[in-house]
Amino acid sequence: MGAAIKRKAPAKPAPNDAPPFKKVLIANRGEIALRVILACKEMGVQTVAVYSEADRNALHVRFADEEVCIGPPPSGKSYLNIPQVIAAAEVTGAEAIHPGYGFLSENPHFVEVCQACGITFIGPSAEIIRKMGNKSQAKATMLAAGVPLMPGSDGIIETVEEALVVAEQIGYPVIVKASSGGGGRGMRICNNPEELPDLYNNARSEAKGAFGDDSVYMEKYLLEPRHIEVQIMGDQHGNVVHLGERECSIQRRHQKLIEESPSAVLDPALRQRICDTAVMAAKAVGYYNAGTIEFLLDKRGDFFFMEMNTRVQVEHPVTELVTGIDIVKEQLRIAAGQKLSFRQEDVVQKGHAIECRINAEDPFKFTPSPGRITALHFPGGPGIRVDTAMHQDAVIPPHYDSMVAKLIAYGSDRAEAIARMRRALDTLVIEGIKTTAPLHRRIMDHPDFIAGTFSTKWMETFMEELKRNPAGDPR
Ligand code: ADP
Repeated sequence: MGAAIKRKAPAKPAPNDAPPFKKVLIANRGEIALRVILACKEMGVQTVAVYSEADRNALHVRFADEEVCIGPPPSGKSYLNIPQVIAAAEVTGAEAIHPGYGFLSENPHFVEVCQACGITFIGPSAEIIRKMGNKSQAKATMLAAGVPLMPGSDGIIETVEEALVVAEQIGYPVIVKASSGGGGRGMRICNNPEELPDLYNNARSEAKGAFGDDSVYMEKYLLEPRHIEVQIMGDQHGNVVHLGERECSIQRRHQKLIEESPSAVLDPALRQRICDTAVMAAKAVGYYNAGTIEFLLDKRGDFFFMEMNTRVQVEHPVTELVTGIDIVKEQLRIAAGQKLSFRQEDVVQKGHAIECRINAEDPFKFTPSPGRITALHFPGGPGIRVDTAMHQDAVIPPHYDSMVAKLIAYGSDRAEAIARMRRALDTLVIEGIKTTAPLHRRIMDHPDFIAGTFSTKWMETFMEELKRNPAGDPR
C-alpha cells in the first residue's frame, strides 16, 4: 500500500465510463438505498425504488426515478418478499438489482431467482454466497485455503456432550456461534463446563428463532481482541484486490458502533500480511464483487479468520474516503462484467476516516427511541460526509433497524479526523428522538480512543465508567 490513488487523466473515455446498466432496482431502504441511488445518478443509470407502506414518504422513494410499493411494513411481507421484488423489477424493466446490506443481500436463493428471471444480481454468485454465508462452512473452506482460523470445533456441534468435549480441548472461555448468524445475534460466551449446557441450548434456540437454522459451532473466545476487516473487490475476470483494512473494535453487544480506516495499531508489515491473507481467501473461492473478510487480532499480533460478508458493508464509506474509490459504482461495473477499474498498486490509503453510527436509541441505556424527527441539521464543512435518509418530520418506523445516519469524518491524519468528528457531533441537531450522538461525543474525548488503545471489550468498561460519572468529564 503506498500513496494516494494515482489517477492518470485518460486520453479518451475508457469503456468503464459507459453506464453499466440502463436501469437498476434497489431492493433496500434507508441510507443504503439512497447511497446506491446517488451512485446510479452519477453513472447515468435510471433507478427504481421499492418501498413498504411504512416508507411511503422516504427519501429513497423520492429520489429514485420510479417507485413501486411492495407490501405492508413488516420486512417479511415487503423488503424480504422475493416475488414482489422480482415483479417490481419486471414491471419497470430494471436489468439489475442492488440488494444493499441486510434483507436479501446474502440470500443465495434470491440470487438464483434473479438469474432465472434474467435479472443481474449486483453481488457475487449464489454458489459463493452459499459457501461463505454459512459461517461454519466458510471456516472449513478457509482452512483448506490455508487461512489462519480461531481454534474451534470441526464444523457443527450436534449435542451438549460434544460441546463439552470440544470446549475441554480448546480451553475456556469459548464462544458458541450460530452458523447462519449475523448482527451479533446467536452467540454465547461460556466460561466453564457448568454453564455450557444451558448456553449451548440458548444459542441454538435463539439461532432457530432469528435465522431459521439452529446449527451452531464453537470457537476459542479471545478476551481482548481487535476487530480488523479487509475490504475486497474482485471482478469476473479473476482480478481480486484489497482496499486496505477497517478497524471496528468499538462495539456494543457485538454490534459495531464506530469504524475507522486505517486501524490505529497495524504496522505496515502486519497490514500487508492481513490484507494479503484476505486476498488469498477471496481468490480461493473465486470471489467477485465487493466483500469483506473479518478477522480478530490478538495482542501478540496473530490474526484469525472470523467470517466473510458477501455484500457492501455499512462501514464502506471510511474505505471510500481513504482510498478515493467509489465502492458502489465499482460494484455496478463488476456486475455488468467490466474489469476492475484499478489495480492493486493503484490502491493507497491516504489520511484517516472515522464513522460513527448514529442510532435512534437512548445513548446511555441503548433502548430504542423511535418517533418523529422534529428538527434536523446535519453538519458539513471540510472532511465531513453524512450518509442518511432522514429528513425533517421523518418518522422512524419501529419495523426496521435503528440507524438514522452515518457520520463520517476524514482528516489528513487520525487526530484531524477526531477533531472534525468532534465538531461535527457538536453541530449535529436531531430533535424529537434520542440518539447515540452524545455517546459518540464522549468517546471522541476519551484518552483510550485518542490513543487507539482499545479492544472489542472496551465499550463494556466505558459503560461502567459512564455509570459512575454520568454527566462529567470522562477523564
Ligand atoms: P456477526 O456476524 O453476528 O456480526 P461475528 O462473527 O462477525 O458475528 O462476530 C461479531 C463480534 O463478536 C466480533 O467483532 C467480536 O467482537 C465478537 N467475537 C466473535 N467471535 C469471537 C471470538 N472467537 N472471540 C472473541 N470475540 C469474538
